[in-house]
Amino acid sequence: MRFAIVGSGMSGILAAIKLKEAGHTEITVYEKAERIGGTWRDNRYPGLACDVPAHAYTYQFAPNPEWSAYLADGAEIQAYFEKTVDDFGIRPLIRFNTEIVAMDWIDDRWRIEAANGEVDHANVAIIATGVLHHPRMPDIPGLDSFAGVAMHTARWDTDVDLAGKRIGVIGNGSTGVQLVAHLGLEGHRIVHFQRTPQWIMPFPNRAYTEEEKAAFRASVAAIDAVRYAPEFLHNVDRFANGITDKDSPQIEEIESLCRNYLESTVSDLELREKLRPTYKAACKRLIYSSTYYDAVQRPNVTTVVAGVERIVPEGVIDGGGVLHELDILALATGFQADRFVRPMSVKGLDGADIEIAWAERCAAYLGITIPKFPNLFFLNGPTSPVGNFSLIDIAERQWAYVEQLIARLSATNAKGLFIAEDAFATHEKNRVEAHRNTIWASGCTSWYLDKTGVPITWPWTYDRFRQMTAKPDFANFVVL
Ligand code: NAP
Repeated sequence: MRFAIVGSGMSGILAAIKLKEAGHTEITVYEKAERIGGTWRDNRYPGLACDVPAHAYTYQFAPNPEWSAYLADGAEIQAYFEKTVDDFGIRPLIRFNTEIVAMDWIDDRWRIEAANGEVDHANVAIIATGVLHHPRMPDIPGLDSFAGVAMHTARWDTDVDLAGKRIGVIGNGSTGVQLVAHLGLEGHRIVHFQRTPQWIMPFPNRAYTEEEKAAFRASVAAIDAVRYAPEFLHNVDRFANGITDKDSPQIEEIESLCRNYLESTVSDLELREKLRPTYKAACKRLIYSSTYYDAVQRPNVTTVVAGVERIVPEGVIDGGGVLHELDILALATGFQADRFVRPMSVKGLDGADIEIAWAERCAAYLGITIPKFPNLFFLNGPTSPVGNFSLIDIAERQWAYVEQLIARLSATNAKGLFIAEDAFATHEKNRVEAHRNTIWASGCTSWYLDKTGVPITWPWTYDRFRQMTAKPDFANFVVL
């Protein structure tokens, strides 16, 4: 069996290692960039970190006793993936600088075409192209006229010298908050343009001591004690169970923790009201930060809530007509979250086209498989659980499921398999229905929502995801 994996971020690396370990030899990982790493390669803005504890944001099979802190920064996470690729010997499988532009199911296998004209064929295609990959540029008049340096946070130019510069930041999602907290505490002059206030959950970080790292090296049990720490699991469970019901006591508890944190930390009453959200906590992705409120109270940081009217060569004119003169403009304006594999063209059985299949909304059964696309398996595909969970954990569960699909193909000599249309339709109907009551559909805007207002995520508990991904029900599959 020949395998093609598209993308060498966290999920693609996982798939390559697992296939190699299972004894497969015909594996190629296609990577359009010159380095592995996906999100952690593309994002290099100051303050980039992961708000999932490092020991929980780690492959199960590759624990890392060397994490320097409870929450790791972006560069350290990228280094972990680079090391894992070498430790498991999969670098030779990766074709760098090779962007796949088209995949067609022809004669019982995938024909895979790269932008450079190369063509490959594979029996199984693993789509590991990430969730938040294509930057979303804001539609603000005059953006192109800015005379300073304007850059999206996912395209950060680390050569730009920030010293002494006046820096504007548009956007206050997880990215904007990390950036402003970091630069603000470093003393840079920041103007933060906030369109909608965010709920902020305190989540202190701390460096590990050498003694702790020695204990992690000596025993995986010490690592597991962090990974499965009761207080961390309590946070995860509270969130996982709360999101399914916007009126749940868990959401009220999250909201009260955030509200207390705002009121006990931000002393200036005018600023406090600027930062106070009016929608339910966790409706937008909940932000974890124990430094942002400190930063925005510094005299070098200004929070502007008057909106952004237009951008001019000198800086930003806010909604009140005030010009904020700037040298650097950071666009922390998020991603086109509905792209997934696209712009790649993917055509399956009987003329099935991913553009048509996803015309109304992008979705995949368990985030893994879609009807009429045989042996096309997504990791962290559309409708996977994405809200504040470790995406590594999700990808590992999905991989364990995909492994069983692959084993079935081998055992039966089948050419292909995919989720049946009726099983998928029933699942999607239930998913959309269940979303009515989730926190994400409780009346805010966010990247979770598709163009019809339905969240592109998992509306049930995380336990249900664990159960449903434990074992495929082959009665729900079409086998060729
Ligand atoms: P985001 O959550 O989509 O936030 C985009 C921000 O830009 C929002 O504040 C939005 O305001 C603002 N915005 C967009 N267009 C605008 C415009 N024209 N004018 C003014 N403001 C505008 O994007 P993100 O912060 O990059 O985060 C995306 C996701 O990445 C997160 O939710 C998270 O899943 C992931 N992430 C995770 C971590 C981590 O530590 N694990 C760190 C960073 C990112 P509105 O709210 O008003 O729309």
